[in-house]
Amino acid sequence: MSRNYIHVKVMDKAKRLVRDGRVELLDSGNYNVIGDHGTYNVVINQKGHIACTCPGYGAKGNCSHTTAVEMFSKRKRRR
Ligand SMILES: [Zn+2]
Repeated sequence: MSRNYIHVKVMDKAKRLVRDGRVELLDSGNYNVIGDHGTYNVVINQKGHIACTCPGYGAKGNCSHTTAVEMFSKRKRRR
């Protein structure tokens, strides 16, 4: 239950990052995300594995930045 709650919070934060234009495509599969506590580098490799340089990602293997990049790339493909 608490895990779902955390997930909802991450999704909300990710949506906000995308909406505010804080996700920036640098290169193919290479993004900058301007988070609340700093700018992080998110990379998607050719296998589709996504990783972020923030401390939260290191600890949990998931963060709002990687979620934001996933949303951002999906949204872009739809256009
Ligand atoms: Zn992150």
